Amino acid sequence: MAGIYVHIPFCKKRCLYCDFFSSTLLERRKAYVDALLREIAARKEEAGAIRTIYLGGGTPSTLDAEDIQQILRAIGTEQATEITMELNPGDATETYLKQIRAACINRLSIGIQSFQDELLTLIGRRHTAAQALSAVSMAQQAGFDNLSIDLMYALPTQTMEQWKADIETALRLNVQHISSYGLMYEEGTALTRQMESGQLQAIDEDTENAMYDYLCERLQEAGFVHYEVSNFALPGYEAQHNSNYWNGTPYVGIGAGAHTYIGVERSWNPDDLETYIRGDFQRASETLTERDCYNERIMLGLRTAKGVAKQDIRADISKYIEAGLLHEKEGRIVATQKGIHILNWIIEDLMI
Ligand code: SF4
Repeated sequence: MAGIYVHIPFCKKRCLYCDFFSSTLLERRKAYVDALLREIAARKEEAGAIRTIYLGGGTPSTLDAEDIQQILRAIGTEQATEITMELNPGDATETYLKQIRAACINRLSIGIQSFQDELLTLIGRRHTAAQALSAVSMAQQAGFDNLSIDLMYALPTQTMEQWKADIETALRLNVQHISSYGLMYEEGTALTRQMESGQLQAIDEDTENAMYDYLCERLQEAGFVHYEVSNFALPGYEAQHNSNYWNGTPYVGIGAGAHTYIGVERSWNPDDLETYIRGDFQRASETLTERDCYNERIMLGLRTAKGVAKQDIRADISKYIEAGLLHEKEGRIVATQKGIHILNWIIEDLMI
C-alpha cells in the first residue's frame, strides 16, 4: 500500500515568509492539470494499491472543483482511505466545499495560521480570521468530519495572550487535527529581509519555546494526541498520509517538484512550471545508501511519539537520557518535551 502526493504549485498571492516552490501564474493552471493527468496515466502503476492521496501546494484550492475531480478520477480512489486536500480559507465557499466533498476529498487541511487579522496581514496571508472561521463551519456543513487546521506561532509581535486565544479558538472549532509550526525566517523571503533591515523583530527563543510548550500542554489536556513534533490529533485521526512519510511507506509524487520514494530509490520532478508542463524531462534520482537510510530513520523517527527502536540507534545516547532529553519507552527511544526544543541538534549528533 502506498501514497500519492499531487503538487499544485499555484498561489493567488505569495505569503511573505514562504520559500516553497509556487507560482502566481494562475493562467497556467489548465495546462498544468493536463500535464498532471499525463503524468498520472504514465506512472500510476508505480504506486500499486493506493491507500492515501494528498493534494498539496502551493494552494490546491486555486483549482476548480472539476479539476480536482479529474485528478482524483485519473488516480482512482477505490482503495484510498484518506484523501486530503489543502485549502486556503479565502477559497472556501459552500458550493466549492460541497463539490470537492462529492469529488471524494474526505479530509481537509485548512491553512488558518492565525485568528488575528493584524498578524495575518503582517505575514502576508490573503485571508482573514472571519474567513477562517467560516471555512471550518462551511466544511463541517458540507459533510467533512476529518478536518485539520494549521496554526503558526512565534510570529513577529505575537504575544503569549494572542497565542493562547488562538489555541482556545481552535479548540472551539471541533476539528480533529491541528498542525502547528513556529515561523522560520527562510533565506531570501520578504519577511527575512524585513527582519534583517530592522523593520520587524523576531520573537525571542524563550518566548517561542514557551508558546510551543503551552500548545503541547493545552492540546493534550483537550484530548489531542501529540504524535509528531508539530502534529496533534484526536485519537484515530492521526494523518495517515504524513505518517507514511515518517515510517518509510513508499509514496509517488506527481507534479512539478514532487518527490517519489520507493524502497531505497528517491526521485523528483523538476521544480520548474514550464518544464513540467512541456513534459520533456527525466526525473532526477538517487539511490539511498545504508547510511542514508539509517540517518533518515533517526531524523524522522525521533520526531514522532513512537520514536526509534533502541537497538537501531548506533550512537551512545546515555548523556541525552541522563539529561532528560531522550527517554526509553517499551524498547524505543523517544524525545522528551525538553528534548524537542533542541531536537534538530540531537538528531544531527546521532546521525552518522
Ligand atoms: S499559500 Fe502556502 S505555498 Fe502559497 S505562498 Fe503562502 S505559504 Fe507559500
